[in-house]
Amino acid sequence: MNIKIFTIFPEMFNGPFNTSILHKAREKGILKIDLINFRDYAQDKHKSVDDYPFGGGAGMVLRPEPIILALEANWDFNQPNQEIILVTPQGEIFNQEKAKELASKDNLAFICGHYEGFDERIRHFVTREFSIGDYVLTGGEIPAMVMVDAIARLIPGVIKEMESFQEDSFYTGLLEYPQYTRPRVFRNLKVPDVLLSGNHEKIRLWRKKESLRRTLKRRPELLDKYELSPEEKILLEEVKKEESANG
Ligand code: SAM
Repeated sequence: MNIKIFTIFPEMFNGPFNTSILHKAREKGILKIDLINFRDYAQDKHKSVDDYPFGGGAGMVLRPEPIILALEANWDFNQPNQEIILVTPQGEIFNQEKAKELASKDNLAFICGHYEGFDERIRHFVTREFSIGDYVLTGGEIPAMVMVDAIARLIPGVIKEMESFQEDSFYTGLLEYPQYTRPRVFRNLKVPDVLLSGNHEKIRLWRKKESLRRTLKRRPELLDKYELSPEEKILLEEVKKEESANG
């Protein structure tokens, strides 16, 4: 996948994109990430990218020319399977489903706002707008990092074992079951016996049931959208009985 990020702070991406799984994916060539500083496309001698808002008000607004000139110089608007994404708290909320959808694209551009935001006319040049949640950050760089990270780990070959993300919270529509590793006992806290039993069918059922329990207790609204299999219906009923018996 080719990703181009348009930002006035490309140095912010160094840590996340040059570490761990994303770094390896870039090295393997599965993921190509270019950082484009749109200040380089500013038209005046001071290389200014922002200006006062027409009509008055607090803060500075990103001008349209540097961003759009940077986009035009670095983006093929006719290439297939692409999205030009504006990161903004006013966009559709990014979630695992959107990450899956975007992971199927070949080319993604991210435009990062800053200061009080950007000139409204930039919206004419983008195909999608995404927010990472109902709060306001100082710039679009962290949201772009969050989205790229979530999308990249779904691209085949980025994570060694595909199953590891197929069981992740939200991937299936449920929260993931509890996980344990060594030691078997830590400060008197024991790993559930079933996980040590070697019985794969019992482990599968336990995990499914605990995934349903965790979703019911923490994010019950996810179950409203989730289509339960006949087996899951039985397990969920058991969970509900156990939970009400436990008070
Ligand atoms: N005044 C803008 C508004 O009310 O919509 C917010 C501007 S914010 C301080 C500066 C930039 O940070 C935004 O243009 C956007 O690119 C980015 N940003 C802030 N919060 C965000 C969020 N929750 N999701 C995506 N981008 C965000």
